Amino acid sequence: MSLVTAYAAPAEGAPLEKIEIARRELGPHDVLIDIAFAGICHSDIHTVRGDWGPQRYPLAPGHEIAGTVAAVGAEVTRHAVGDRVGVGCLVDSCGECRACARGAQQYCERGAIGTYGAIDRDGTVTQGGYSQQVVVTEGFVVRIPEALPLDAAAPLLCAGITTFSPLRHWNVTRGSRVAVVGLGGLGHMAVQIAHALGAEVTVLSQSLRKKDDGLRLGADHYLATSDPATFRDNRRSFDLILNTVSAPIPLNDYLSLLDTDGTLVCVGAPPEPLSFDVSRVISGRRSVAGSNIGGIPETQEMLDFCAEHGIAAQIEVIPASAINEAYERVLAGDVRFRFVIDIATLAG
Ligand code: NAP
Ligand code: ZN
Repeated sequence: MSLVTAYAAPAEGAPLEKIEIARRELGPHDVLIDIAFAGICHSDIHTVRGDWGPQRYPLAPGHEIAGTVAAVGAEVTRHAVGDRVGVGCLVDSCGECRACARGAQQYCERGAIGTYGAIDRDGTVTQGGYSQQVVVTEGFVVRIPEALPLDAAAPLLCAGITTFSPLRHWNVTRGSRVAVVGLGGLGHMAVQIAHALGAEVTVLSQSLRKKDDGLRLGADHYLATSDPATFRDNRRSFDLILNTVSAPIPLNDYLSLLDTDGTLVCVGAPPEPLSFDVSRVISGRRSVAGSNIGGIPETQEMLDFCAEHGIAAQIEVIPASAINEAYERVLAGDVRFRFVIDIATLAG
């Protein structure tokens, strides 16, 4: 066991503070990673504030991890010292169920082990990437292609895969009409990926404040949901709507924007339940669906896809001492489009 410096919430809703956390000794299949950058996902904020239920504290969040391999266990074959690697929302799963067998570890029937706040195989609580180092079993470590800078790659490990997976699953391709609701961390990745897949992309944002950014990222159209004309003039206009909003939205209004056989996929995970009127799905054979991050093979595919298409997150790099301020700014919608913590600033 070794101690490393981390930023953790000491209690529900309390500001994060610097602490020491333990990392296990390297097992034969483990990889020790020197973390260089960790993205701040809205899920980190939901979690430490108790939005999704009680947690075990202190809790160091962070599941958008990019760094380099510092050491490997005796039987590791996939990664070598010095490799540029990433870790996302999962650090282990059963490896045997039907979901794991097809590489969909996020749907592990026995419950995958989350990167932070989960009970690990050894009974300890997992601690995330707002820390200097992490030890992860090799199968949950992915390669970061040379073309991607580590800081702008970090958010791909959650925001990238969470949007890539449903866009691929629902077969978004050239000519697909895709709307992305919410231009935040997830949304700005969804726009870039959908555009690269050849879709006609529309952003549905609360206002036109970020319109220039949205168009620059690859959106073809940018509409304000605060304007009633958006819902009046765009009925039956989309094949897929990807809802990335961290708060409840009126699903009925959005369902009317779907064409026949269209699907509204929710990835945003507000604490409150969302409801809709079944007549809105019946009248257009529409579907309401959800999607959870992505599996490990798909995460590697996403990183390779982003490298090939020159896609990465638009980031604001911050020192660890600015994490609490960054949380407030995320909650206020004041981020373009992801805060990334420079982990070197944790030292000292
Ligand atoms: P974020 O950067 O805060 O972006 C959320 C965006 O939603 C905001 O930029 C804003 O976009 C819009 N929004 C916020 N409050 C709103 C409100 N009251 N009404 C309408 N729109 C609002 O958050 P994120 O990191 O992208 O995460 C988004 C959500 O996805 C969170 O709930 C997170 O927990 C969840 N998530 C889910 C998964 C999964 O696997 N399913 C993975 C990661 C994250 P505009 O300013 O453009 O309106
Ligand atoms: Zn996340």
